[in-house]
Amino acid sequence: MSGISGATRLAAVVGRPVRHSLSPLIHNAWLAAAGIDGAYLALSPSEEGFPHLVEGLRGSSLAGINVTLPFKEAALAAADVASTRAQLAGAANLLLFAEDGSVQADNTDGQGLLGAFASQASGFDPAAAPVVILGAGGAARGAAAAFVLAGAPKVRLVNRTKGRAEAIAHALGEAVSAHAWSELPGLLDDAGALVNATSLGLEGQAPLEIELDPLPASAPVMDMVYRPLTTRLLEDAAGAGHPVVDGLEMLILQAAPSFEAFFGQAPPAGVDVRALALAALEQDA
Ligand code: NDP
Repeated sequence: MSGISGATRLAAVVGRPVRHSLSPLIHNAWLAAAGIDGAYLALSPSEEGFPHLVEGLRGSSLAGINVTLPFKEAALAAADVASTRAQLAGAANLLLFAEDGSVQADNTDGQGLLGAFASQASGFDPAAAPVVILGAGGAARGAAAAFVLAGAPKVRLVNRTKGRAEAIAHALGEAVSAHAWSELPGLLDDAGALVNATSLGLEGQAPLEIELDPLPASAPVMDMVYRPLTTRLLEDAAGAGHPVVDGLEMLILQAAPSFEAFFGQAPPAGVDVRALALAALEQDA
């Protein structure tokens, strides 16, 4: 970024807290490498202020925003139109501000998730076998929606609070089933993939320790947690011979379609944003 002028195309990530977001690093590295007159900022409104922020940005010079915790559900509610995948996910991570003043919502987390599988577990077919997802928060619902759209024959949601998993299954239809944690061992033996979408394993939280033996060795194990990058779950999975997929790859690959929507072209090749993000994670640790 050589300098911001009135002609600079702007986008931002909006979250609270937003200080540790890797999105500005990723998008600004792509902007610099592509030589685009653009800048990507980080905004942190109050919880009550978020809908007002979106209203105020209608028809503005900001191309759009990425939305992260805790505003993803509010972002969907604030939009005039939403893609099917955002509606199924019940949340938006991308809002675009059109010149006519309208606000369009989308959710690229599913593309990031499936893209991460494609890049780190080659040959994985989401439609081939049931998928087991641990958790029933926003990340789990988004992942379940992505696998349903990708044709998974069954998505099994396993959560400490079974009622939250049941609510998601109700919203997404019969391809999704809800289970208590105690049912997990019986859900793995015919599974094609396992995804951790709980916050267990996140820095400062207890690690996620589960018995992986029943899971076929060919089934990839994915952890959406990326602080730390190599969680206990991924260590155990790699030790047992499973292909492993990390949350950082998902984060980077969900950013790519947003970049294209904001700045009109795909991210440039030849800039290793994963290495930049890894260095930033190490510095933060
Ligand atoms: P939520 O707070 O909405 O959900 C947290 C989930 O973790 C719930 O299912 C909760 O179960 C479960 N959980 C928390 N503590 C425990 C525990 N001690 N034992 C069992 N289950 C527990 O979070 P999100 O859905 O927004 O995010 C989940 C994770 O995914 C986070 O680590 C987040 O950083 C990561 N993420 C990564 C992304 C990426 O791009 N890589 C994108 C989005 C999220 P219960 O319902 O019973 O409370």
